[in-house]
Amino acid sequence: MVRHIDLATLPSPDVAGRLDRLRARFDGAGCDALVVTKLESVRYLTGFTGSAAVVLVLPGSALLCTDGRYRDQVVAELDASGAAVETEIAARPDQLELVARACGATARIGLEAASASWSLQRRLAEHLGEDRLVATDGVVEALRAVKDAGEVARIEAACDIADVAFAQVKSRLADGVTEADFAAELEAEMRARGSAETSFATIVASGPNAAMPHARPGGRVVGSGELVVVDFGATVDGYRSDMTRTLCVGELSGELADLLDAVLAAQRAGIRAVRAGATGGDVDAACRGSLTEAGYGAAFVHATGHGVGLEIHEAPALAKGSTDILEPGAVVTVEPGAYLAGRGGARIEDTLVVGAAGSRPLTKSTKDYAI
Ligand code: ZN
Ligand code: ZN
Repeated sequence: MVRHIDLATLPSPDVAGRLDRLRARFDGAGCDALVVTKLESVRYLTGFTGSAAVVLVLPGSALLCTDGRYRDQVVAELDASGAAVETEIAARPDQLELVARACGATARIGLEAASASWSLQRRLAEHLGEDRLVATDGVVEALRAVKDAGEVARIEAACDIADVAFAQVKSRLADGVTEADFAAELEAEMRARGSAETSFATIVASGPNAAMPHARPGGRVVGSGELVVVDFGATVDGYRSDMTRTLCVGELSGELADLLDAVLAAQRAGIRAVRAGATGGDVDAACRGSLTEAGYGAAFVHATGHGVGLEIHEAPALAKGSTDILEPGAVVTVEPGAYLAGRGGARIEDTLVVGAAGSRPLTKSTKDYAI
């Protein structure tokens, strides 16, 4: 029996106000209209959750084109979100013709450089002329980086599900379970507690596998005295959670205990650096500096973190040299790790919401390695 998350008990996301906030950014982005095809951004701007759509945002109106599969769903979802969007139902080639026609005399039509396909760009160029198409970079993504209360509540609900599910099943790691079986049990537990889907492919990596940051769970049995990295998340109303814990069955040896201590200290340093106005690079430098001081600088082979929302990886970037500013209401991860080939690895990750003077953790599971 899957528990249903009653979304009516959570604050509503303010979908209806987003199109105007996007239009306010057109000048800065160098466009007069924007064609949006990234599905998470379509959902963010309109509330439509279907798997295919193109949205044209004009200065005074917006048009969403989708196909016949979503004829009824699009009406219901736009009605619920209150977004001021006209809809057209058409096959894909005809959708682009409708979009081009709706552009009228608009001068600069923005495309999302990071997600518009080559064929979309070519087809629109046929209709509109090459000169009117301009590349835009992360316009909707910058809006999405700052979450409203409804979005934070959904991410927090997903984090809560992940916390409770993990507490429920983690003792199974001591039962001679394989990585893949533990991943399946954790995922089933999250599903039973109301997660619509896993927020990404669950990672369970034990022993030498833990030295690979994105190892896929396999048939290896989790043994004692070794580190096991578990990285996973739940999804509520499209919003995702992201958490990593590193555990050990039985006694932890000197080398691996030292490694885990260093990662825990780096994560504390990173979390202390998260506050409104800091850059993603500042947070990365705090984690990297801490691990370097502990002698594990070269073992930290990935970025410190990322924004989380409708996508598991979104703006802002918490990476070396990132100039992305952390704004109040941004939801980000802090996830330093250190990996020693053939011996093991550790990563500790929380999802946090940025506040004026610091941050509030949304994932709350204990970081004690003992099971
Ligand atoms: Zn993660
Ligand atoms: Zn992450």
